[in-house]
Amino acid sequence: MTDNPLRLLPAAGAVLELPVVRDLVAAHGHGLVRHCLRSLLAELRSAALAGTVPPSLPEITTELSGRVRRLAVPALRRAVNASGILLHTGLGRSPLPASAIAAMVEAAGSTPVQASLSTGDRSLREERIERMLCELTGCEAATVVNNNAAATMLMLTALTAGREVIVSRGQLVEIGGAFRMPDVMAMSGCKLVEVGCTNRTHLRDYEQAITPQTAALLHVHTSNYRVRGFAGTPGAGELAALARTRGLLALDDLGSGALVPLSGIGLADEPMVADSVKAGVSACCFSGDKLLGGPQAGIIVGTAEAVKRMRAHPSARMFRVCKLTLAALEATLVHFINGDWRERIPFWAMASRPLESVRDEATRLAEALLAAGARATVVDTLAYVGSGSAPDEGLPSVGVRLAVPGIAAGELARRLRLGEPSVFVRLEGGAAIADCRTLREGDAESLVKAVSSVVC
Ligand SMILES: *Cc1c(COP(=O)(O)O)cnc(C)c1O
Repeated sequence: MTDNPLRLLPAAGAVLELPVVRDLVAAHGHGLVRHCLRSLLAELRSAALAGTVPPSLPEITTELSGRVRRLAVPALRRAVNASGILLHTGLGRSPLPASAIAAMVEAAGSTPVQASLSTGDRSLREERIERMLCELTGCEAATVVNNNAAATMLMLTALTAGREVIVSRGQLVEIGGAFRMPDVMAMSGCKLVEVGCTNRTHLRDYEQAITPQTAALLHVHTSNYRVRGFAGTPGAGELAALARTRGLLALDDLGSGALVPLSGIGLADEPMVADSVKAGVSACCFSGDKLLGGPQAGIIVGTAEAVKRMRAHPSARMFRVCKLTLAALEATLVHFINGDWRERIPFWAMASRPLESVRDEATRLAEALLAAGARATVVDTLAYVGSGSAPDEGLPSVGVRLAVPGIAAGELARRLRLGEPSVFVRLEGGAAIADCRTLREGDAESLVKAVSSVVC
């Protein structure tokens, strides 16, 4: 009663002198250890004042070393994607090709991102990327911004602000979060003119809505949903033809924007960028980290005139990408130019892996998990592209249903996420399933280690 409870807590200086804590300092740095110790002691002080008996010194150093270790692991640590979602937004969408990772490391120091080697003058940042996109899509010009949301915004604001843009009611999409097409259009400064119905819009609906104030006809790919049955809306090609006869622009937000057809992996095709260009749109935009399988970026391809106007707009500077993104995107595009995208781009490698090879991996994984003391059964699954592409079609896959006696599936999934590396399994029908289509080299071993550490 008479003793001050704070007296029972050690001084920070004394803790820092302990041999175990000195080892922590040697491994992780004085600043980081002191940072964790200060917040720990502050918490213990308030707890002591509230009447809690302070922990012993060994308990304090154990808690401290746990905190330091957790903080020493970067927030963006390695994760094993056993979810079966190939482009998992929560896990950073597409894993990058090895060539793109190497290019980012090379570019991380000083790099001539905007300097001409022959003259030393300022140069266009995305020059090589533009040349490759011209070859791959048949466009006249191309530019790159932060993501496809920014690309849509730049396209609308630079080309249509202050004027009317006609869109089908069936294409006023919400991509997720705050990205809703009507809101984006309002922000860009253009006036949205809706035509048609949710399920059907006719070319004449667009035609009748054209006024002297009209700047463009906009086509939006309904990436993450499909309208089936009595449904139909003119394609980008029909809109481009109408726009041409009326002296208007035709714009296309492709979303995923495929450079190669999805039929190669047995899925119905997502719209091809080259088809849109060929159909005569003035500009179309798509993501760098969806079906392209590269870094987060928004890519705009179109006519030289449209791209020139977009580059000259102040928003282009606000939305511009860093040298790391440019390096990774350039390296990714080289695989499409070389034709080795199926082997070299992780998304395409995972998607085109033969089912029997996935099954072999699942069988080996189940054996290793059983040996580690877990319950494991090989099960047929469906993997999904993710990121709003091919939303209602699964890719045949094989996984391992796993369980650890005494631990509920949700808790098992939580402990696997908290491990190093973090492992993300799928929870389905009350069971934890590790889908093998999204595992990459070394992932199965990491998964077995993670499960073993939960078993004991
Ligand atoms: C995904 C998507 C976007 C947003 O792209 P991000 O790269 O995620 O910013 C915009 N429009 C459509 C149609 C999309 O599918």
